[in-house]
Amino acid sequence: MADAAFQRCINPACGAEFDCGQAIFKCPQCGDLLDAQYDWDRVAVPDKLSEFGKRWATRDRRLDLSGVWRFRELLDFCPDEHKVTIGEGQTILQQNCAIAEHLGMKPDALHLQYEGLNPSGSFKDNGMTAAFSHAMMVGATSCACASTGNTSASVALYAHSCGLKCTVFIGSGRIAFGKLSQAMDYGAQTIQIAGDFDDCMRQVQAVCTELGLYLLNSLNPFRLEGQKTIMYRIIEALGWEAPDWIVVPGGNLGNSSAFGKAFLELKQLGLIDRVPRLAIVNATGADTLTDLVNNKKLVWNGGNVDQRIIDDYYADLTARHFSPHTCASAIEISRPVNLKKCLRAIDVCDGVVLAVTDEEICDAKALIGKYGLGCEPASAATIAGLKHLLARGTVAKDDRVACVLTGHALKDPNVTVNYHKDRLGEFSNAPIEVPNDLAEIIKLIR
Ligand SMILES: *Cc1c(COP(=O)(O)O)cnc(C)c1O
Ligand SMILES: [Zn+2]
Repeated sequence: MADAAFQRCINPACGAEFDCGQAIFKCPQCGDLLDAQYDWDRVAVPDKLSEFGKRWATRDRRLDLSGVWRFRELLDFCPDEHKVTIGEGQTILQQNCAIAEHLGMKPDALHLQYEGLNPSGSFKDNGMTAAFSHAMMVGATSCACASTGNTSASVALYAHSCGLKCTVFIGSGRIAFGKLSQAMDYGAQTIQIAGDFDDCMRQVQAVCTELGLYLLNSLNPFRLEGQKTIMYRIIEALGWEAPDWIVVPGGNLGNSSAFGKAFLELKQLGLIDRVPRLAIVNATGADTLTDLVNNKKLVWNGGNVDQRIIDDYYADLTARHFSPHTCASAIEISRPVNLKKCLRAIDVCDGVVLAVTDEEICDAKALIGKYGLGCEPASAATIAGLKHLLARGTVAKDDRVACVLTGHALKDPNVTVNYHKDRLGEFSNAPIEVPNDLAEIIKLIR
């Protein structure tokens, strides 16, 4: 019953509601973020999460094959005939004993959720399948996004899969080559702005309003609905039990917001009895969330967020001409659009936030590559952050932890090659130069 869904402004002082047939992306009354909401009494949600697992048996049906739409009753905003899928969400949760031991954890405690296994190589596909389904439902014909890279790759892939014209905005020189190559290859009109992500974000919102394009940034509440399913799959992989901790990198804060909403709803529906704690990890060169939460004491406060703290903070960034910088380009963002929803997630999940250096990110990335399936730099912020949380005793050695590895190792080969070739860290594994001579080669390997 997709008509049990509606949109609602997250600001409790406003609380304006809109039907899902509108593509507005911000509350027209107060300018705050919108949520997708459900009249749960009118949705046929199973009474046990394990019921969703039965759909593995009918995966010859396109919606049951999708790791997002397998859970469709929990994001029931769109009739099945409009749902777009390209087989997203076939991702795995790997128990990684080697990294657990390296971090001094109990060997079976650490799990890595590989979202790089999605069709475009990042978790963004979870959100795009949902947002494009909404776009089809409202009859959109062209769309746009601002991107640090993976959003544009995913948007470009889904846009041509369902026949939408697509324009992506990226900051000049701010994008990893794997991602740029995808946007071009998948046929998106690719616009490079002389600026950073935050500049692109401002421009794309203006362009979408002016030209009536469908906006695919994580301001789009339907994208976040799709991203909730990453949590459902982690729970599924743990035998329908929630872990103790979810660790996720924080950029525009769409993922962390979606995860908080997922757990809030599961708890309200009585489908889980315990909400995991959430750790959100910034890079030190793009640590707005960490600064606002840990130093400026910004909190959700039942939705009555102290907007002055945010305004002052951003005014100061502007006055200093601050531009974020980190090798983890996917989280190189200083004005995260989902900030308030993320504060709600921190509230729901008793969350913590912290920042890690680029050096820590690169070492963690190499560790994940050496003992796991690899990931891009932003994803490795999770393991780098977990190391700090273990050292502080915030996370216990035997806590069950799931780190969300958001993007594929091949997204950003430059960072990887530089780390190894230039011996930048403790796991550097540089190629060895050798003459074209059999005896020399054998001597090296023996
Ligand atoms: C987009 C992205 C992030 C940041 O996620 P947010 O939801 O914007 O916080 C992190 N890692 C990768 C690989 C990404 O593509
Ligand atoms: Zn409002």
